[in-house]
Amino acid sequence: MVTKIMNDKIYDISIIGGGPAGMFAAYFARLRNLKVSLIESLPKLGGQPETLYAQKHIYDVAALPKISATDLVKQLNAQLSLMNCDQYLNTSVSSIVRKDDLWVLTTNKETIYTKAVIIAIGNGSFQPRKLTFDYDPTLEKQQLNYFVNNIEDFADKDVVVAGGGDSAIDWAIDLNQVAKKTSLIHRRNRYRAMESSVKKLNDSTVQQLNPYIIKNIGFNQTDHDKIDITLKMIKSDELKTITADKLLVNYGFVSDSKILRDWNIDLQGPFIKVTQEMETNLPNVFAIGDIVTYPGKLQLIATAFAEGPIAVTKALRNLYPDKDFFEHSTSIFEK
Ligand SMILES: Cc1cc2nc3c(=O)[nH]c(=O)nc-3n(C[C@H](O)[C@H](O)[C@H](O)COP(=O)(O)OP(=O)(O)OC[C@H]3O[C@@H](n4cnc5c(N)ncnc54)[C@H](O)[C@@H]3O)c2cc1C
Repeated sequence: MVTKIMNDKIYDISIIGGGPAGMFAAYFARLRNLKVSLIESLPKLGGQPETLYAQKHIYDVAALPKISATDLVKQLNAQLSLMNCDQYLNTSVSSIVRKDDLWVLTTNKETIYTKAVIIAIGNGSFQPRKLTFDYDPTLEKQQLNYFVNNIEDFADKDVVVAGGGDSAIDWAIDLNQVAKKTSLIHRRNRYRAMESSVKKLNDSTVQQLNPYIIKNIGFNQTDHDKIDITLKMIKSDELKTITADKLLVNYGFVSDSKILRDWNIDLQGPFIKVTQEMETNLPNVFAIGDIVTYPGKLQLIATAFAEGPIAVTKALRNLYPDKDFFEHSTSIFEK
């Protein structure tokens, strides 16, 4: 029975998802003296920056003119380590259920009891959108990549990037710094990316192959370390085959928010609808970061950082309406 759970086993706030949104929200909630758990399905915190683009630089986080994604996550970890926050790694939340006045979180490990929940699951578990035709799966061991784990794997290589969004363009530009040659394939003549990134691309030596789609891939017959990529020009029968050391397919990621459908949470498409105080339709369940939608939402780290404090403050007001709490200066925490 939930009401028999020992009080010290009940969190004020449990944050599902340890990306930038969840990490900063956890820190902020601890700063407000709440009992907090941070639950992350992967073995380490950091979300998309750590998992998808660790070595890419970020230029739009306030007060940090330029920082690599992995260094940003290091700083978030350092900040979090100032506060004692229970972290559950390798722990995936599969359901949240209301029992009495608590939320019961079922995970692949233990059950977690909490008064409030902040959902910060980003795009859910990361599943890259893969090439849709059949190909030899052993290509994925070396020549065909959906992630960049280590940029050095691309050093001095002939690299082909496929995709037309921000991520593909960012990677084409970044890989071009270390690769022997970089090409970018996109099915349109226009990119779905920030103007500044497109300008950077146009100013770079990246070869742009537009408008082409990838029709087929296979091992190169004479050099098995290489990959043959057959391209088809859009609205034409023209086919051509190029050979490269590495193909990075960057068609985005399949969002795994299907899990949310069983949580009785109001969705708009794959996203959670929230109020301006980051409330969902469920009592004391908030959502922040890439998983939310509201008018004007931007899927950025800066936005995710701001949404955490809003959600935490609203949770605090709901849970402890009689408690005095400050809203501005944090220097009162100095010893
Ligand atoms: C290639 C690329 C480049 C980008 N560049 C920039 C940039 O330059 N500047 C910028 O501001 N933004 C950039 N972004 C966007 C930025 O990374 C996201 O806005 C940010 O990561 C959102 O943070 P989040 O915490 O909401 O989600 P995420 O970073 O996606 O983190 C969510 C976490 O939740 C975990 N999780 C999911 N489901 C569960 C579950 N059921 N149980 C437990 N844990 C779960 C996931 O494993 C993940 O670690 C970029 C994104 C990409 C893909």
